[in-house]
Amino acid sequence: MKRSITCPKCNKMLYYEINDKMRSKARVSGLVPITIIHGYPDTHALVVYVDANGANRGYEIIENLVDLRVSYKSREIIKIIGEDKVAKIIAGIIGGYNLYIEGDPESIKLLHLLLAKILKRQFFSIVDNEKLADVKISLMSKKNPKLPGEKYVLSLLKEGKDLSDDGYINMLSVRISQLKTKIRSVIDMLETRSWSKTDLMNELEVNEKEFELIKQFIKSKRPDLLDKIITSILDIF
Ligand SMILES: [Zn+2]
Repeated sequence: MKRSITCPKCNKMLYYEINDKMRSKARVSGLVPITIIHGYPDTHALVVYVDANGANRGYEIIENLVDLRVSYKSREIIKIIGEDKVAKIIAGIIGGYNLYIEGDPESIKLLHLLLAKILKRQFFSIVDNEKLADVKISLMSKKNPKLPGEKYVLSLLKEGKDLSDDGYINMLSVRISQLKTKIRSVIDMLETRSWSKTDLMNELEVNEKEFELIKQFIKSKRPDLLDKIITSILDIF
């Protein structure tokens, strides 16, 4: 279910999605917070609280996401938080999970700053209550759950060594949004009818490796759609 809200601070129209999982969580725990970080370069977060019917029940604005901007470059933030953890978090966001991030407040702030730059106005859900999360990622611990696509995101983070910081962020931003669009397209296509792997790959202009990656995300997001990818004679030969 897609919803929109006008940010009371900057008057920008923002969009977010409420899925069944979030609604059932709201049923158990009252309200579910949805964080929408936006406004570039004046970055702030609007936290919308939705109830089990998906209705807005309140909001808050978090303003202090800007202070650290001057002193840190994206690559420094990634180094501080850890490439592998950033990769996991971004993969979780692409996969549409509600994430709970455990860490010291300063690192969490840096993380939000980084995500705001990379994801710009894209929707993602970082919850502030562990009970509401699908996945908990600790910035301190070495033992975190494995998420689909994290290796791919890690390889993206390692790319573009000779780019400027802005160039690097743009590269990440474009590649991540392309991947999200492709996952969305596959879901839309499979919702209408069955497709052969070859036809899907041609339609999306992706290679075997990218197709497997997209399939991993579909498997975690919409496992019911997997058997709509059918094997055709072309896939075998
Ligand atoms: Zn705003």
